[in-house]
Amino acid sequence: MPVPARKSSRMRSRKRRTHYKFKVVQYIKCPNCGAPMEPHRVCKNCGYYAGKPVVIVKTR
Ligand SMILES: [Zn+2]
Repeated sequence: MPVPARKSSRMRSRKRRTHYKFKVVQYIKCPNCGAPMEPHRVCKNCGYYAGKPVVIVKTR
């Protein structure tokens, strides 16, 4: 909702922005190759997901 800039005080807008945060990226070990990977994602190292190869990873 648009509000004139002078109507919202510095404290009010700063308090609202306390919820703007960076998400810390979590890493787990790949059960297939042991490389660090993000959970619920396809492994970037071996292309496995849920114990099966899903993506063909170029190895060069
Ligand atoms: Zn892997």
